[in-house]
Amino acid sequence: MSIQIPRGTQDILPGQVEKWQYIEQKARALCNNYQYKEIRTPIFEQTELFLRGVGDTTDIVQKEMYTFEDRGGRSLTLRPEGTAAVVRSYIENKMYGDPNQPIKLFYMGPMFRYERPQAGRYRQFVQFGVEALGSQDPAIDAEVISLAMKLYESLGLKNIQLVINSLGDKESRLAHREALINHFQPRIGEFCSDCQKRLEKNPLRILDCKKDRDHELMATAPSILDYLNEESKRYFDKVQEYLTLLNIPFTVDSTLVRGLDYYNHTAFEIMSNAEGFGAITTLCGGGRYNGLVEEIGGPETPGIGFALSIERLLAALEAEGIELPVEETIDCYIVTLGDKAKDYAVKLLSDLRAEGISAEKDYMDRKMKAQFKAADRMKAQFVAILGEDELEKEVINVKQMATGEQEEVSLSQLIPYIKQRTS
Ligand code: ATP
Ligand code: MG
Repeated sequence: MSIQIPRGTQDILPGQVEKWQYIEQKARALCNNYQYKEIRTPIFEQTELFLRGVGDTTDIVQKEMYTFEDRGGRSLTLRPEGTAAVVRSYIENKMYGDPNQPIKLFYMGPMFRYERPQAGRYRQFVQFGVEALGSQDPAIDAEVISLAMKLYESLGLKNIQLVINSLGDKESRLAHREALINHFQPRIGEFCSDCQKRLEKNPLRILDCKKDRDHELMATAPSILDYLNEESKRYFDKVQEYLTLLNIPFTVDSTLVRGLDYYNHTAFEIMSNAEGFGAITTLCGGGRYNGLVEEIGGPETPGIGFALSIERLLAALEAEGIELPVEETIDCYIVTLGDKAKDYAVKLLSDLRAEGISAEKDYMDRKMKAQFKAADRMKAQFVAILGEDELEKEVINVKQMATGEQEEVSLSQLIPYIKQRTS
């Protein structure tokens, strides 16, 4: 059998890739608008980074990492997410010493998780994410959330819903942890083996279990919101106040906990409630992680960020029937008749391109009619027709495809002629 693409991955072919580029451009423009700067980190990192940065009780670390040993015997892992690497780089490059604070970064690139592939769930997928490091201002929480919401809105999505929660600070979480242990302990035998381990290590993550989500103890579990201390409550109120100020509708869901450890205060998800979207509705997840920088070996630093995948964004667009404006056209196609014209067109094409005009010619020895068809397929706005006669008179026939109008233009005037009419 011939070699096939690995399970859970996809080729993005011309025709599809334009959508990706369109979304990527939108995201970049938005980050520029919000003043988040791009950071590019390696595709693989020392495995230890993710054990510490993602947390060893998470599904990612327990089940989903592509870990391998290199020829020097080092344990490396294909990055399953972006935050840990950004934080590693932040520490390594001493960004905490930069006078420009907070440090606002974004990344976009492939992530790798060994998952059971299904719609919206791949083994290689592209995440766009932002991180704001160094500020403890609830307004930055609102800014980060608003950036994610703006991306979806700017692409035309209507059925999106923001859900927020607070996980509180350390003190609040400890109190809540106690309550969770008391709640689940007596009947922990009825839960999956993962949850049994979570009870000791990180009982909050029981609430995020996909297997036991319908167990009756889940619905009655103590709510973190009842355990927030004054400061955490104030912080959460302030975030909500800013979201309201920014006209961003949201709902509070006290059962929302993020998959990663080290989250505190604000946690949020953006979901699609478009009809026909299927089982997976989370488009974006994020939150505050004030303990993470320290955990990875840096100074105590507050941080907040989100990550979303382009794959799920595209699925949401499809569910809402939104077509991105990505029709590909070219400015000019040169049709030639005869050998002399064919040779001349080689240089003419190069001159057009040098002036920023997107242009193409035939390389398949096509007859004139077939050249016109090729021009049509490429959605050429202008077709420039060159034969021996024209060449002798130093002119060229230019046809505007939309109107069918044809004009004889002096060869020396072709470039300004097309430039004026395209732009
Ligand atoms: P899920 O609960 O769907 O597994 P998660 O909690 O693992 O999500 P995060 O680690 O928070 O997801 O990643 C942020 C976003 O990345 C998700 O909201 C989703 O849009 C996207 N994402 C996560 N895993 C995949 C995947 N395997 N394929 C495509 N997109 C993904
Ligand atoms: Mg997951």
